[in-house]
Amino acid sequence: MKSNKQRRTEIKARRIERAADLKAKLRTQDARQLSSGGLVPGMAMADKSRLAHYNTTFGEVPDFYLDQAYTCRDCGAEEVWTAKQQKWWHEVAQGSVYSQAVRCRACRQARRALRDAALRNEGANLLGDEVARLRALATEKPTADSLAQVEASLRSKWRSLRVIAIEVMGRWGGPEQIERLQAFAADRGRSYGSWEYEAANAAAKALARHSEANREC
Ligand SMILES: [Zn+2]
Repeated sequence: MKSNKQRRTEIKARRIERAADLKAKLRTQDARQLSSGGLVPGMAMADKSRLAHYNTTFGEVPDFYLDQAYTCRDCGAEEVWTAKQQKWWHEVAQGSVYSQAVRCRACRQARRALRDAALRNEGANLLGDEVARLRALATEKPTADSLAQVEASLRSKWRSLRVIAIEVMGRWGGPEQIERLQAFAADRGRSYGSWEYEAANAAAKALARHSEANREC
């Protein structure tokens, strides 16, 4: 019995052969002639009504898509961008008119994974640094500079940084900060999970910690 992998390899080999065959035929006849007896394997009809994004600068809107063989730019594997996949790309995903398949699926996935990991790390490191820097502010009395930094953090794109800014205000605990925290705590916003909701919780916690610390002194 053939394994799935063997079967896939055979299908792929057939597709590559067929794509080469179609390409050779197109040297002597055009796609209209090629499909005069109906669609041939490796060919898909274009739905021109879905190709409005092909503007005149691109020239003619295609009548058909044909399987295209290509060599993966990264691993050198022989691949086929099938007519069906092209149809999906252009008509459903409305992808770029000029797109060409250049990488096999495995290499595309590997690249995406690398890029995602890089983005995650970059975000995590930046955030980690910012968190540490902001937390350290709470160990000193507020200055004009550290007050400004907390204000800036309250407008950060990272919610977790905004929460820490609230904590820092609680640790400073001056009358101005307490007033701000009380305002945060009073407004839970409209929905669970909103920033206002999270801020109100963080402020309530900071206020509780503040009054507890004051009792201890
Ligand atoms: Zn590849």
